[in-house]
Amino acid sequence: MHTDANCIFCKIVNNDIPSYKVYEDDDVVAFLDISQVTKGHTLVIPKHHAKNIYELPSDVASDVFKAVPGIASAIQRETGAIGMNVLSNAEQIAGQTVYHFHIHLLPRYGHEDGFDAKWETHNDAYTPEEMSSLAAQIKQRV
Ligand code: AMP
Ligand code: ZN
Repeated sequence: MHTDANCIFCKIVNNDIPSYKVYEDDDVVAFLDISQVTKGHTLVIPKHHAKNIYELPSDVASDVFKAVPGIASAIQRETGAIGMNVLSNAEQIAGQTVYHFHIHLLPRYGHEDGFDAKWETHNDAYTPEEMSSLAAQIKQRV
């Protein structure tokens, strides 16, 4: 198991600093995000230290993602939230501040509940040919 002695989430995994854990198994920990953007805001992390989604080994990704539905449903049942945003920030431009991969579970209660994401649509910005070529180029690299 890869850990980083200077990483705050590795410290949470090792119980070197306190946290409000809501789930733990051999490979995964989930705990309340200290910022509580919305009530029940939770982080799901692998015990294995990986910087972000780009560096997440696929077996570690399997371990983390398979734990998410159960945790999300438990949060929903406990809080009575009417929806949830599931997101992971990679790199500074996307808002990443802790460089140990994590998934945010953000229960939603209404439009002014503390979380917001701007979501501009640009449907007309690309021709079908450009969309097709972009998809083919990405597909080549997967
Ligand atoms: P991100 O900005 O996507 O990297 O998310 C990092 C999150 O970690 C932020 O929402 C912080 O509030 C949260 N966070 C940082 N330190 C702790 C901590 N000790 N316990 C719980 N959450 C933390
Ligand atoms: Zn770490």
